[in-house]
Amino acid sequence: MDKKNEKVIAKYLSGKDAEYMYETCEETPGTCPVCNNRLEDVINMSYKIRKKKGDLFYTYDLFCIVTETFKRFCEENNYPDLTFIQITTSPGFYYFMPEGIFKVDDVRSKVKFMNKRECCDSYDEIICSRPFYKSPDFILQTDDFILRTNHRFGSFQMKTQLVIIGLKTMRKMQDYGIKGIYFHNVYE
Ligand SMILES: [Zn+2]
Repeated sequence: MDKKNEKVIAKYLSGKDAEYMYETCEETPGTCPVCNNRLEDVINMSYKIRKKKGDLFYTYDLFCIVTETFKRFCEENNYPDLTFIQITTSPGFYYFMPEGIFKVDDVRSKVKFMNKRECCDSYDEIICSRPFYKSPDFILQTDDFILRTNHRFGSFQMKTQLVIIGLKTMRKMQDYGIKGIYFHNVYE
């Protein structure tokens, strides 16, 4: 999919898998009571993460978890509008989500919106056949940023906004010794 004339302008993050935060859709809070689609991320404070290598994980039901090292990196670099929620039963691990928006080009990224619900305006599934493209009307002022996608990707209660970072941010993370993060291309 890598075309020579397309410019990589950012990276989206993935990491190693971690156990479910909530096993079933019935027990997942923050979901619509009618269609069960996830509308917000509500953290299970008794979630226990097993000791793992790496500084960023996604639970199977798509909650992003980071380590103390990742959090310290973000704080030392003063990235604005990041949410970290310490998980009570997993000291040193935090739920993580940026609040600033990176707008995706739905057409070129071939984003599929499946079954819009009237109860809450959510979709049962939002799926992207990657790679991602930036929306042309979304202007980036810097190549050092941490943002999230404007959509919540995934299915039903298992959805998350993806974390998108600048190319300079990626190099800084690597220099800092952040481990276990995979960086995937986002195009102009
Ligand atoms: Zn609903």
